Amino acid sequence: MAVTQTQNTNGEAHPAELNASKLVINLANELKPLPAPESLAFGETKTDHMLIVNYDPVTGWSTPEIKPYGPLILDPASSCFQYCPNVFEGMKAYAGPDGKPRLFRPQKNMERLTRSAERVALPPFDTNELLKLIQRLVAVESRWIPSQPGYSLYIRPTVIGTRAALGVAASDSACLYVIVSPTGPYFRGGTRPISLLAVGEHARSWPGGTGGHKLGLNYAPGFMPQRLAAKLGYEQILWLLGDDKKITEVGAMNVFVAIKRDDGDLDVLTPPLDGTILPGLTRASCIALTEAHNTGRLVLPGISPSQKLHTAECPVTMAEIVAWSEQGRLVEAFGVGTAVVVAPIGRIGFEGKDIILPIYEAGLGPLGKGLWETLTAIQVGKLEYDDWSVKCE
Ligand SMILES: *Cc1c(COP(=O)(O)O)cnc(C)c1O
Repeated sequence: MAVTQTQNTNGEAHPAELNASKLVINLANELKPLPAPESLAFGETKTDHMLIVNYDPVTGWSTPEIKPYGPLILDPASSCFQYCPNVFEGMKAYAGPDGKPRLFRPQKNMERLTRSAERVALPPFDTNELLKLIQRLVAVESRWIPSQPGYSLYIRPTVIGTRAALGVAASDSACLYVIVSPTGPYFRGGTRPISLLAVGEHARSWPGGTGGHKLGLNYAPGFMPQRLAAKLGYEQILWLLGDDKKITEVGAMNVFVAIKRDDGDLDVLTPPLDGTILPGLTRASCIALTEAHNTGRLVLPGISPSQKLHTAECPVTMAEIVAWSEQGRLVEAFGVGTAVVVAPIGRIGFEGKDIILPIYEAGLGPLGKGLWETLTAIQVGKLEYDDWSVKCE
């Protein structure tokens, strides 16, 4: 094994930093045939290559490698299998108008990934170097990005603890890998409102817990309640928290509600980042775009420039949702996230009854549709907005 350990000025050894300039690329001898885009199911298709780099407590980050996609070989005692120091990100590369792949605010994903890693005591890494490596991987795999609208390459950066010992302790070793998968639009044949079951007896997150980080261990406990909701005929769970039944998230999406005010304006509400809410990039982008609409920096398509959007990060309870619905003021509710962008909510099962939301021809209401159109235009590079869209070369 090549020793990457370096000496500092005192002559002491210190572990190597993650360094994209050392990247080694070993291309597959034979490339896989591209599947028909319509046949793609989320996360099922594996491309030709992956990125991998390992951390050793003495030598630090190894030489990063892009190599043919394939299995990992790990000691069965590895802490990732036992204590779950596993973290991940979800991002997408879109085909730009010039054919070059583009990432959406990728620095934010890198920052969130290091915060997640820190939360489970995995080793830190240089986020700029990881982003450069991901850009190279996307460039290598760019033939996998379907050119049809709504299609993209889903990117899954992952860090797992690889300390091969059973003691209950932080993993001092890690494997960082990135796999990618071509993906189609979440809704095929037009956006369709989803049904939710409001669930308070099982919690996705709680004060002082880890719900504000993208840790693998946050998701498995949701699978059983999700199965129960599906049996009752609901597609996803609206996760409630606390005695006052505050809404937190929808499945693995952040949630927004739009309430008509007496003065004709809209209140646009989403729960605050109090540690129980995953700080979604789509959520932050939606908040920024509603503010840009108010200042006139950009107009959300389908929304009058004079329509003010009073966006607030504030707790929302089920009692409020029920009251707004009965008063006819609950005009829109939607989930947001990288996979779906914006998903309209049509029905919420709560305490044995269904709360029915207004139906819109487009599936999404005017606010959800305006946000969806603006976000997707920025993602594919049709609309410039700050440095939100970043090319991979
Ligand atoms: C990833 C995720 C989101 C959405 O985050 P984006 O950065 O917008 O993709 C929301 N909630 C949960 C629980 C998530 O894991």
